[in-house]
Amino acid sequence: MIIGILSMQGAIEEHEAAFRKLDLTTLRVKKPVDLQSVDGLVFPGGESTTMIRLMALSGLFEPLAELIGRKKMPVYGTCAGMILLSKGVTNYSEQRCLGLIDIWVERNAFGRQIDSFEAPIMIDDLGKEAFPAVFIRAPLIRHIGPEVRLMATYRQEAIMARQDNVLVSAFHPELTGDLRIHMYFSQMVSGWRHSQS
Ligand code: GLN
Repeated sequence: MIIGILSMQGAIEEHEAAFRKLDLTTLRVKKPVDLQSVDGLVFPGGESTTMIRLMALSGLFEPLAELIGRKKMPVYGTCAGMILLSKGVTNYSEQRCLGLIDIWVERNAFGRQIDSFEAPIMIDDLGKEAFPAVFIRAPLIRHIGPEVRLMATYRQEAIMARQDNVLVSAFHPELTGDLRIHMYFSQMVSGWRHSQS
């Protein structure tokens, strides 16, 4: 099983390190041909405008829509990755997004004063222990479609959700030592992989 890390820009090494701790192999995805070797894909945090521009230049939109939208390969988007997977950005209407999960997001939703912080949050399906969520100029989920399951909130705001094969979080789990979300995602990936063979 190989987990791809979309490698345009952003927190790539940190996700690689988290999967390595789980003894899982990763591959950097930079161009369409790389997608042939992976069973799941992480969209890391970073700068969403830069990332979407680089993805357009690499010709990744069509193959990603096919693989994630039609073939239902699992994908996990953190922070900027969540923005890219959403249907659009409420406070930045010109931003192009892939529309692979039925949510709308607000960019930099915590304001400039609160650049980054860590908070314990409870996540559905991840046990009774709080998860140390790291937020860095984080977005929030503003509209959630009927098929989307909300998995976590912070101060009553939506910060983690899943629709079928698409998992998103506003925070960065790869910057904590807690591997539960990477483990949860790898189970989604192995389930999909078995369904393909
Ligand atoms: N603020 C960034 C954006 O809007 C996201 C920040 C992050 O991924 N940590 O693209």
